[in-house]
Amino acid sequence: TGRAAGRFVGHFVGHFVGGEWVAAGSGRTYPDRSPWSGEALCEVAAGNAEDAHRAIAAAHEAFAGWAGEPPRRRQQIFLRAADILESRQREVLDALADETGCGRHFGDVQLDFTLKLLRQAAHLAYRPMGELLPSDVEGTQAMAVRRPVGVVAAIAPWNASLTLAGRAIVGPLALGNTVVLKPSEESPYTGGALWAEILHEAGLPPGALNVVTHASGEAGDIGAAMLESPLVKRINFTGSTPTGRRLAEKAGRQLKRVVLQLSGQNPLIVAGDADVGYAVDAAAYGAFVHQGQVCMCARRIYIERPLAGEFAERFAAKVAALPVGDPRDPETVVGPVINEWALALLDRRVTEAAELGARVLAGGVPQPPCYPATVLTDVPDEAEIAHGETFGPVVILETVGSAEEAVARANRSDLGLVASIITGDSRRGLRLAATLEAGIVHVNDQPVNDEPHMPFGGVKDSGWGRFGLGLAAEEFCELQWITVRDQ
Ligand code: ADP
Repeated sequence: TGRAAGRFVGHFVGHFVGGEWVAAGSGRTYPDRSPWSGEALCEVAAGNAEDAHRAIAAAHEAFAGWAGEPPRRRQQIFLRAADILESRQREVLDALADETGCGRHFGDVQLDFTLKLLRQAAHLAYRPMGELLPSDVEGTQAMAVRRPVGVVAAIAPWNASLTLAGRAIVGPLALGNTVVLKPSEESPYTGGALWAEILHEAGLPPGALNVVTHASGEAGDIGAAMLESPLVKRINFTGSTPTGRRLAEKAGRQLKRVVLQLSGQNPLIVAGDADVGYAVDAAAYGAFVHQGQVCMCARRIYIERPLAGEFAERFAAKVAALPVGDPRDPETVVGPVINEWALALLDRRVTEAAELGARVLAGGVPQPPCYPATVLTDVPDEAEIAHGETFGPVVILETVGSAEEAVARANRSDLGLVASIITGDSRRGLRLAATLEAGIVHVNDQPVNDEPHMPFGGVKDSGWGRFGLGLAAEEFCELQWITVRDQ
């Protein structure tokens, strides 16, 4: 549809269905805007349920062929895709900055993760897919065989658009499934069309990956098509807890399994024996990388009383000096938040907390289209920001009598994604880790950490199931028990 590969600014971003770029059936489009300049970067196909059903049908049709490809061919495709992405990295970093306000550092983080993901996934093609089992039935051979499930639907967010779409599609594809990807309306290119470009160029057969985009407020139509279609066997979703809960409720009615990666309200605990400088650096990175728009970001920092005063002073000074501005400027640490709605929400929640008595130690005044790194303390329980996830560059400090008290307070949250503990005594850190209700705990590191082979996921309302290539076969294959008895 007239778009040169590798370029999206000024071009039309269509759906990718059955190996072809197509417009929405309705012909409708919407503008994809830069969060920094507000300018319309490109027009995007505004799809609906019918477009989703077409993509699902294409994925279904491609399944037998893709699942039957020899492992060597699947391996080559992912290795080639990694090389293509690597050769395009400069342009991809620009696209991430333009489309999602992603700065250079977090762009590098996304690229590094994604290249590893593709190169490790290539070897999933050679994973043993079953085992022979002993049986008491005489003359019987029993086996358990892992089979790809069929069509997997992937719903991905905008925040780490390249990486999170990659994580949603690459494992399932490498195991022989076919995929329909629905990127966020905020990242149709870097979280959608770009993946189709790269994997198609790498030799992925038509229909194995399909991408359907949509305008703001219309995700639900596509989500409903994915839930209702009997051809879709699994859904993986990365996004907020309220949306994930709605999906899971509907998926329950359809008896459709979903993997959910949802919100976090992640604690970072600073023990009294911690190195303060190290703790300050870890907390500043963990709370404010990518403007705090990462599900793993620290949202609450608990400090044992003896260190609390010194920590707060040094942390506030460091945070107040973090440069705010253009994501393309290499000096910038805090770029724009994703849209005006997100900016208004941050402003409202911080203002409300301050009106209720919270003290603002740094930041707290919007610099449109950015919100500066902001530190709050003495936040009263009635303030909305004390509960659930506020997705942006705001963190809350709390002084505690002990790290054990911090764990007890952190565990009161309904969410349980990541926790960090900074302590001079790593054995104490390990003991505390065992008591934290979190899917992931880092002792002596900041919370924004991921590697493609790790079991990534939360407990409680932070999600169901785990992403990670090590476990992809559990989530995206079905075990079939087969017996063969001698006649
Ligand atoms: P975020 O705050 O990260 O945008 P969301 O949960 O709103 O969190 O978005 C994550 C993904 O879920 C995006 O791709 C979004 O378009 C999609 N989404 C939002 N609402 C629905 C819905 N009702 N059904 C399916 N997907 C949805």
